[in-house]
Order: sequence, then C-alpha cells, then structure tokens
Amino acid sequence: MSDRSDRPLSDRALGMHRNITRRDFLNGVALTAGAAMMPWHLFAAGDIDPEKSPDYYPPARTGLRGSHAGSFDAAHSLRDGTFWDAAGAPQDTGETYDLVIVGGGISGLSAAHFYRKTAGANARILILDNHDDFGGHAKRNEFQVGKRTLLGYGGTYSIESPEPYSAVAKGVIEELGIEVSSFPKYLDRDLYGSIGRVPKIFFDKETFGSDKLVDDPCPFPGGETYDLAVAGPDAWAHFLAEAPIAEQARKDVSRLCREKKNYLPGLTADQQEARLARISYAHFLTEMAGVHADVIRLYQAISQPLFGVGIEAVAALDAAETGYPGFSGMDVGPEGLSNERKYFFHFPDGNASIARLLVRKLIPDAMPGNAVTDVVTARANYAKLDEKNSALRIRLNSTAVRVKHAGDPLKATEVEVAYARGGKVYTVRGKHTILACWNMMIPYLCEDLPEAQKEALAFATKVPLLYTNVLLRNSSAFQKLVANSVYAPGGYHTHVDLDLPVSIGEYRCSRTPDEPTVVHMSKSPCHAGRPARDQHTAGRIELYNTTFETMERKIREQLARTLGPGGFDPARDILAITVNRWPHGYAYEYSSLWDKFVLEGGETPCEKARKTFGRIAIANCDAGARAYTDEAINQAWRAVGELKS
Ligand SMILES: Cc1cc2nc3c(=O)[nH]c(=O)nc-3n(C[C@H](O)[C@H](O)[C@H](O)COP(=O)(O)OP(=O)(O)OC[C@H]3O[C@@H](n4cnc5c(N)ncnc54)[C@H](O)[C@@H]3O)c2cc1C
Repeated sequence: MSDRSDRPLSDRALGMHRNITRRDFLNGVALTAGAAMMPWHLFAAGDIDPEKSPDYYPPARTGLRGSHAGSFDAAHSLRDGTFWDAAGAPQDTGETYDLVIVGGGISGLSAAHFYRKTAGANARILILDNHDDFGGHAKRNEFQVGKRTLLGYGGTYSIESPEPYSAVAKGVIEELGIEVSSFPKYLDRDLYGSIGRVPKIFFDKETFGSDKLVDDPCPFPGGETYDLAVAGPDAWAHFLAEAPIAEQARKDVSRLCREKKNYLPGLTADQQEARLARISYAHFLTEMAGVHADVIRLYQAISQPLFGVGIEAVAALDAAETGYPGFSGMDVGPEGLSNERKYFFHFPDGNASIARLLVRKLIPDAMPGNAVTDVVTARANYAKLDEKNSALRIRLNSTAVRVKHAGDPLKATEVEVAYARGGKVYTVRGKHTILACWNMMIPYLCEDLPEAQKEALAFATKVPLLYTNVLLRNSSAFQKLVANSVYAPGGYHTHVDLDLPVSIGEYRCSRTPDEPTVVHMSKSPCHAGRPARDQHTAGRIELYNTTFETMERKIREQLARTLGPGGFDPARDILAITVNRWPHGYAYEYSSLWDKFVLEGGETPCEKARKTFGRIAIANCDAGARAYTDEAINQAWRAVGELKS
C-alpha cells in the first residue's frame, strides 16, 4: 500500500496514534474504549447483571462489534468439546417458562410475538442471546458528535427481499406500524443529485497499475444505494477515457452494459436457464461474452455484498436474475420491479429498528415511545429487559449450551435449557423451546437429535461478512470528488458508501459536506478459486484471526488512498470506527453451481434440519436457507405453529 508518492503511509500519517474511540486489547483481541463497560469485565468484578448499569448501552460501543469478544467463547468451547470440563455443575435458577427461545434476533423476537398472540400476554417467555445487544444481525451502531447522534447499520440493512414478503411477514411489519410505502417520504431522493455526487470505481495500483477514481457508468445492484446509484451524466465518457484497463476491456464493458445481445442464440428460455445455472458468471463473461481479462478483474467483487463470493463462484443464472450486465438481450433476467413498486424500507440503523419495535411490543418499558418515527431516536433501557416480575424477559450475554427434554422426548412435559453467563452455567425450564439461533450450533446443544437431522443442521454454515461504519468529521472529500459511493474491486473493503439520506422523526441525516457523516464499508473475506463453502470457512477463520488494529490500518489506508485527492486526511478526519465482524453472517443460500440438489430436486438440507423434535422447534432464517428478514419471521411463525400443545 502506498500514497501518491509511492511510499507507504506511516502509522502517524494514517492517524493510528489518534485518540479515537476504539481499541484496547484483551488476549490479543482488540476491544473498544468502551470496553471498560464490557460485560465480562463487570462479570469478573462479581456483577451478575451488568445490563442493569445505567452505563450499559451497547449501540454506542465502537471498535470490534458484531460477533464481539466475549460473545462466542462458550459456543466455541462447546464445539471443541472443552466446555463441560471447565464449566462445573450448572446452577438451577428455579425459573420456569411457557417458552424459552434461544436467539434474540428478529426470528427469536418474532417467535415471542407470535406465541404471545395465541398464549396471551401473561405467557411466560425467556429469550436468551449470547450477544451484549439484542437483534442478532440487525444491529444498531450509534455515534455521538457533540450533541448530535448519527446512526449506522451494523448488519441487516433494509426491508427488501428477492421473494415477495409473505402475508405473515408483512403482517408483522404492519403490526409494528411500519408503513413500507411511506419510505419515499423519509428519503431525500434528490440530495446526491443536487450536490452532484455519483457512484465511482476505485482502481487500485496493485490490481490495475495505478490508483484512480473513475465514474462508474453502470453501477450494479449489490451496493447499498437503492435507486440513488445513478451514473453521472458524463460517466461513460469519463470511464472510457480514464479507466486504467485495456482499451478492449473498456469497450467490452460498454458492450455488456449497453448492447442487447443474446449470447446463447438458438436456445429456448428454459435451455438458457439450464445452461446458465451450471456455469459461473465469470465463465459466462469469458467464454460466452468473450470479454477481456481486465473485465473479470473489474467485476470480480461486484457479487460479494450479496453472495459473499466473487463472480467465479456465482452461478451465471443468479447473476442474470440479480441484474448483472450481459443478459439484457437474453430470455433470462430480473423481474425488473421499479423502486416505486418494491417493498423497501431503510431505517438509518437498518432493520435494528424492526428488532427495537419488536422489543417495544414485547417489553414496552424497555423502549420508550410509541411510534415508528420515534423509535429511531429512542434510547433503549437495557435494565428493563430482564425484570423478575415481567412475563417476558430478554437475557443478554447468555449462551445456550444444552437443550434437553426432561425425560423421554416423546413424553416429556418440559425442556431444560442450560446457558453460560459470566463464566457460570445456569438452567431454566420451559414447556416449549424454540431454537431461533444458528442451525449449525444446534447439534452441539441437542445431543438427542437424530444423527441425520444433526447432519442437515450442520450443513448451514454461514457466510462471513464485515460491515464497517466510520464516523468522519465531514464529507467534503466526497463532495470534492463528486462521489457518493465507491466500488473498489481490489480494496480490503470492496464497497464504500454514504448511506441513503434518510431523515425520520427527530433524526436528521447528514446533508451538507461540512457535517459529520458515517461512511459504510463492506467486505466479504472470500478466497477466490475455491468452492463457495470452502471460501466461507476460510473467510470466517480470517475474520476471527484479524485484529482490530490490522483492520483499522486497512480502513485508514483505503480511505486515504481513495479520498486523499479530495483533501481527506485520515489522521484528522476519522473520528470513530466500528467494525461489525460477522464470521457467521448471511444464512447460506443454495447455489445451482455448488449444491447438486438444487438441480436434482428432493428434500433440501434446511427442510430436513428444521423438523420439530418433541417440545423443541427450530426457527431462524437458516431454517429456510434464505438470508432475509422475511424468512426469519416466516420461520418463527412456522416454529410457533409446530409447538406441541
Ligand atoms: C451483515 C448482514 C447484512 C444483512 N442485511 C440484510 C438485509 O439488508 N435485509 C435482510 O432481509 N436480511 C439481511 N441480512 C440477513 C439477516 O441475517 C436476516 O435478515 C435476519 O436479521 C436474521 O434473523 P435471525 O433471527 O434468523 O438470525 P440472527 O439475526 O443471526 O439471530 C440469531 C441470534 O441467535 C444467537 N445465538 C446463536 N447461538 C446461540 C446460543 N447458543 N445461545 C444464545 N444465542 C445464540 C445469535 O448470536 C444471534 O444473535 C443480513 C445479514 C448480515 C449478517
């Protein structure tokens, strides 16, 4: 990595010495400055309920978040077979519930909501989650600049799905008061256009021979920009003149994006689909569209935000259906819903607002306010989540480690759930249990499950992702460079976006270049050339083994090189960094390229995996092998419906 004078930027120039809210170190793992309040410190000091402290406020923590330190140790130790030796005998809390839910993501919260609707408001429900915050992947990042709060999404970005939302999922969204069709009211659609900011591509020296920011003439779905990813008026001229790739490659890009050509002439639509399902998008581009190798380098990462792998591991049919270039003259492609007709809503903290609205419904005292517009700025009261006298309790920092029927699974009237919290193990009992956690964890929890079901559950390994939010002093460099988003095929983070300008309730997004702003960066730690699931495994290990310090240096370098020509100074302009590390990110979605059963048919692993076992039902979006909020809700609905009466 180097600056424009070809010398590596020193740590000092990058601002690694700056006292931003970020890192301390514990066992080589970087923690935030807020780490002094991290639960394990409090647990260690003998505080059994850190959530009751008035300072307990996870959304404002910076540094390494997502699967944060302290959230996965018990689960990994269980996986490694070392947990029970070290744990000691569980202590019985004496607590009994109608329903114990493992997992406080949108699926677990929805399951509680559905159960209460049939069992009544007095039904006793306990939700356990291993993280210090609720919401699962739907996490909120807060930044404070003086008196102003700025928000970012730490995971789940929006209400949006390639499949239509089911009546059940829509029903929940409506019950929460979210009027999806009202989204345009909150979006300042013309803001970027009016200040002349457009999508860009950053060509890096290591991949393309020189560092250069060029207009993106044909921005693809997959970034986080809704319909604001509109190319600038001179984008094609700029790209064709300036992109540091072979002239033939530039022409090929123009042909792919602008010409309607059928690259499989003589085949029916079904035959085209069948052919494209069996080859990768990279193969399609090289062998059928005959593009120059530089086009592959340029497009390599366009699929990463959506699929978690590069174009060599994505089926050409999936690429066509997503709307990637090259298919407009063929009989395959996206359904082409216009944004007006799309079921889409983006809160400034993403679908964390859905999780927060669900919590408000379940435990009103924990989330002040009563409207969708005020939830965005509401400060959750974590002390209220787990109150002794409340019928519904959410217990954070608690990893379920064993879920077992009290007796014969076919006859038992209760399930015992053991969970680790603050270095100790406790048990509770429930008449029913819903596992709204991650499928691949379930075989370690439920030893009694049939082996074939355990195998099917274990198949659901997740897609690793990094969602980084960086608080900048202002966005003047974006303004000077006329950029609102940057695709960086060779970057550590491949996408750098200013969020959709959404103001809702009392929340005001950044509108002018001199205001502080949050820039969102995303990365899929993929390892091109291997089968998709092997890439995910390698990426997961990479994320667990990379220190925050390394990530911070890469973030600073990348922003310095991309925005430096616009006057950006990483040492001066970066005020805070929150890296949301998701080694277990998206639910794994089946691919015609890698999973034989997609083309051959038959029962899928998720169908085998989600079967209810005695009094234990399985929810979460792995149970539907779809990484979407609607699926998390659908599966919760199914699981609740399958509970034994
Ligand atoms: C970075 C990212 C971006 C995404 N963006 C979108 C998007 O824009 N739109 C969309 O629809 N979907 C998106 N998704 C998919 C997202 O996963 C779903 O939308 C949904 O939030 C999943 O909800 P869930 O409850 O099924 O799972 P999760 O959110 O994963 O919740 C499960 C919870 O169970 C916990 N858990 C696991 N094991 C245990 C245990 N043993 N004990 C206690 N707790 C346990 C987990 O830690 C987690 O907190 C995104 C996912 C990621 C990772």
